[in-house]
Amino acid sequence: MQGMNMTRSIDARRTLTVALGERSYPIHIGPGLLGDPQWLRPHLAGRQVMIVTNETVAPLYLERLKAGLGDDLTVREVVLPDGEATKTLASVERIWDALLEAGFNRRCTLVALGGGVIGDMTGYAAASYQRGVAFVQVPTTLLSQVDSSVGGKTGVNHPRGKNMIGAFWQPRAVLIDTDTLSTLPRRELSAGLAEVIKYGLIRDVGFLTWLEDNMAALRGLDAAALAWAIERSCSLKAEIVAEDETEQGVRALLNLGHTFGHAIETHQGYGRWLHGEAVGTGMLLAAELSRRLGWLSDDEVARTREVLAAADLPLAAPADMSVDDFLSIMRLDKKNLDDRLRLILLRGLGDACIHDQTPPETLATLLEDFPR
Ligand code: NAD
Ligand code: MG
Repeated sequence: MQGMNMTRSIDARRTLTVALGERSYPIHIGPGLLGDPQWLRPHLAGRQVMIVTNETVAPLYLERLKAGLGDDLTVREVVLPDGEATKTLASVERIWDALLEAGFNRRCTLVALGGGVIGDMTGYAAASYQRGVAFVQVPTTLLSQVDSSVGGKTGVNHPRGKNMIGAFWQPRAVLIDTDTLSTLPRRELSAGLAEVIKYGLIRDVGFLTWLEDNMAALRGLDAAALAWAIERSCSLKAEIVAEDETEQGVRALLNLGHTFGHAIETHQGYGRWLHGEAVGTGMLLAAELSRRLGWLSDDEVARTREVLAAADLPLAAPADMSVDDFLSIMRLDKKNLDDRLRLILLRGLGDACIHDQTPPETLATLLEDFPR
């Protein structure tokens, strides 16, 4: 029995490399990574380790992570409260305080154990502590595994705006233990799947087809299916990031569904719709608009809707959101240059583009017709 499990686990293990010259790093993906020293230890800069996690994740995975470190190291931890509201400079300050109290030097390593909130804050603490120290991401939500842990964006929110304070800072390694998804709330899993579907829609129709065929396995937490979906997502994001590390061009395609989605999140108040849920509905709006511009067929829009439905994502905009609500929020979007509304649309499935020529009346009719 033991042997069989081992074989199955090894089959589901994958490693890919984010190619960024001397800052290149590996992403290890698969079940059973957390408690196994061979994955984390090689990426430590020295013998001082600061684990940053939150009150939800700590009881689930902190001991397992520590077991994978060995007892010859100086290990400290910061356990922050849960939630986007804690993604503040004050939390980063708590991390700096803990590092200074422990007397940690420039050869310490920060380990982020949790979702994107923990990853973003820990990365920023690492970017700024003593002008930059090593950090390793151990993302435990599907969204953070396929999105926030790749690309090097770190930071915190400011009362005047989300992610307004931050830095680009690459991790030494990313360890994605797919076993951690077993405790993730189902809504959070679906929200992560929205970003996975996004990669297929923008860049890889073959992957989209694979997702259509394997959605049930993914939602059933099949380890091999998860490992493949995560690897494909990370490598599509890594390719885009390698082409455009600081977001001058092609990286904008990663925002498919995000302008519409951001309008939904803003209108509803952050937290009521999960980010991935809003992006899912946003991608359906983008697909439908692409059809109206003559780029997608009815069938292709139907495929988009069905794969989102299979991931259990919402397919209608909020009932209380008017066309004007959408338009007024979208006009303020930071992706707009000059006064043109810039949208990421689909020239085909797997072929996204940046478009700033949508006639205002086409957009208004789309929003009018879209189900609530
Ligand atoms: P999150 O970090 O808030 O995690 C979602 C919830 O799941 C939290 O309550 C968390 O405690 C809980 N959780 C985490 N792992 C769990 C597990 N294995 N089992 C049970 N519960 C678990 O949210 P998220 O969706 O992971 O990340 C969202 C954040 O990521 C946002 O702040 C966003 O700005 C950021 N983000 C950053 C980038 C980037 O490029 N840096 C990209 C996308 C998103
Ligand atoms: Mg997103």
